Amino acid sequence: MDTDYEYKERVPERFVERELRLGEGRISGISSITLGILSLLAVLAYLYPSYLTTAELRQVYDGEQLQILLKYGIYFSILLGSLTFILNRGLYRHLGSFGIGFSLIALALGGYRVPVDSVEPRELSLSVDWLILAFLGSVVIFLTLEKLLPKYKEQVIMRPEWDVDLFYFCFNHLAISAILIFSNYHASHFHWAVSDDIQNAIQSIPVWLQVVLIILCADFVLYWEHRAYHEIKLLWPVHAVHHSVEHLDWLAGSRGHFVQVFSERAMVMIPLYLLGADQTALNAYVVFAALQAVLIHCNTRLPFGPLKYVFVTPQFHHWHHGSEKPAIDTNYSAHTVIFDRLFGTYHLPGEHWPAEYGTTKRLPRSVVGQTLYPVVAHLKKQGSGSSKE
Ligand SMILES: [Zn+2]
Ligand SMILES: [Zn+2]
Repeated sequence: MDTDYEYKERVPERFVERELRLGEGRISGISSITLGILSLLAVLAYLYPSYLTTAELRQVYDGEQLQILLKYGIYFSILLGSLTFILNRGLYRHLGSFGIGFSLIALALGGYRVPVDSVEPRELSLSVDWLILAFLGSVVIFLTLEKLLPKYKEQVIMRPEWDVDLFYFCFNHLAISAILIFSNYHASHFHWAVSDDIQNAIQSIPVWLQVVLIILCADFVLYWEHRAYHEIKLLWPVHAVHHSVEHLDWLAGSRGHFVQVFSERAMVMIPLYLLGADQTALNAYVVFAALQAVLIHCNTRLPFGPLKYVFVTPQFHHWHHGSEKPAIDTNYSAHTVIFDRLFGTYHLPGEHWPAEYGTTKRLPRSVVGQTLYPVVAHLKKQGSGSSKE
């Protein structure tokens, strides 16, 4: 830890025009259009399940139960859309109109009455079901947490570049079956390292211990993969996309170059494949990892007590996104703080949080610009050793 450094309190920029206030019709308009789009997507997923649902996920949820959720989604979208007209401010009626429009199209296509058919098994599909469930789950869990226990109360939901990160959120979830195919293919190259004796030994230990083992092995791989992205000049421009976000919240962690998204999952699949743990342990790890990845980017002061010295928490990972000098190239771990402690990259200065987030050299602010950035940076030979450039 840099003991001479004077830590400053972050002063978040206010965006009064982006604030949501009750009674304006904006909250109902946004809710209406969101529910309308989700309902329409859900109906399309029911109509074309082979192409728009995820084989692995279908085994976990009940399609008929979710039709009830879809029914209320459509009803509330129409209700909230109508409310924008009753509130009569004019300004946000178009949101309500679109919300009602999407819901009516969803109803016209069969709505919540589309029969749940058995599905042709297809490996590659667009994971619309995963996108809808992850979005609803994130809003219910993480957005609620950010509103109840915010770190920066002034930070608005629709902070700058929320739309850019929403695009990344959608891409990462829609592409999950492609990511899985690629990761499994990548891991299969390590079949020579599979040991039946080791896998049998692992399966004979209690499930909770298997989960601990998976977390530690995955964390070790993710630590070095992450550190390589920071410390290898050629790789940094790819990972810089994830660091270009300047307002951390539940959506911010989604920002990442597709090369990083695919390579990260492919790397973590290797220990999962070699360990050969029980499916229950594997599922528990996947849920833990997915929730933690969103939580650590959240704008929340949720207290973790002594757990913050074991697990990666929002404060710990926010420091990884800090652009101040003591935070540069620290806190690489994804799950526990162990490997940062072990390899000398741990930075958690008491109760301090970063004053600034982002890269010291600003990246393009659009998805296209960010996707092309590694190539452009390479051509210009601007990749430098310091990873927060
Ligand atoms: Zn990083
Ligand atoms: Zn991050």
